[in-house]
Amino acid sequence: MPELPEVETVRRGLSPAMEGAVIKKAAVNRPDLRWPFPERMAERLTGRCVTALRRRSKYILADLDSGETLLVHLGMSGRMTVSGDPLGRFVHDHPKAQKHDHVVFDMDNGARITFNDPRRFGAMDLLETATADQHKLLAVLGPEPLGNSFHEEHLIAAFSGRNTPVKSALLDQGIIAGLGNIYVCEALFRAGISPKRKAGQIAAPRVGALVPIIKDVLTDAIKAGGSSLRDFRQADGELGYFQHSFDVYGREGEACRRAGCGGTVGRITQSGRSSFYCGKCQR
Ligand SMILES: [Zn+2]
Repeated sequence: MPELPEVETVRRGLSPAMEGAVIKKAAVNRPDLRWPFPERMAERLTGRCVTALRRRSKYILADLDSGETLLVHLGMSGRMTVSGDPLGRFVHDHPKAQKHDHVVFDMDNGARITFNDPRRFGAMDLLETATADQHKLLAVLGPEPLGNSFHEEHLIAAFSGRNTPVKSALLDQGIIAGLGNIYVCEALFRAGISPKRKAGQIAAPRVGALVPIIKDVLTDAIKAGGSSLRDFRQADGELGYFQHSFDVYGREGEACRRAGCGGTVGRITQSGRSSFYCGKCQR
């Protein structure tokens, strides 16, 4: 499932093909994904210029010159592919249409953007740009982890008196937007905090220290995504899935990577999801 760094990588990959370009043709090949598409979606997109391509949490937001914003969520298995991009950063030939190509945009610059989603957990919607923040999916979100409103005081206040494990608190999208299982495991490892520790019982300085660690973990992953974008000329134009090495995630039974620790990475299940951590140096 794509997390924030993967979605940001998709946004950066789409940007040269979409920003400032007009959607010449929008093909919508079925009535719905996870939810029905908005009414007359193809018609409302056709002929519109994409004035900005933004990201909020794991949503990609394409602002249009009509005053509407296209919201895209990749869900579990949604994939965006760019072909025929005139800047030469992507494969030039449009691939043959595939099963599950649900939405296809042909841009006036020659680029084609294809949204393929076999499991259809993804979503698209059209919102009024001016009130997009109040959309039900966006209104509930806490601050962006890489933005200025995610700071030490915010996290200390959010954790104060909370009786849930720190792992669940960091996955709470109302506390911090866009953080998922993988990067929470990685951040807690770097911070030396056990995923089982109750959020409200962690001393304020340790909570505060999590803030720059979370920003670093995400920034490192976005950098890895950026390197993957530079390789796209040889690749198939598919965005957002890149090789990235993790310190604890997926490393059950392996030696802890913290210098001098000597512990072993373990795995427990919390709220139905795997937490990978070192029981020796994460307290
Ligand atoms: Zn360790």
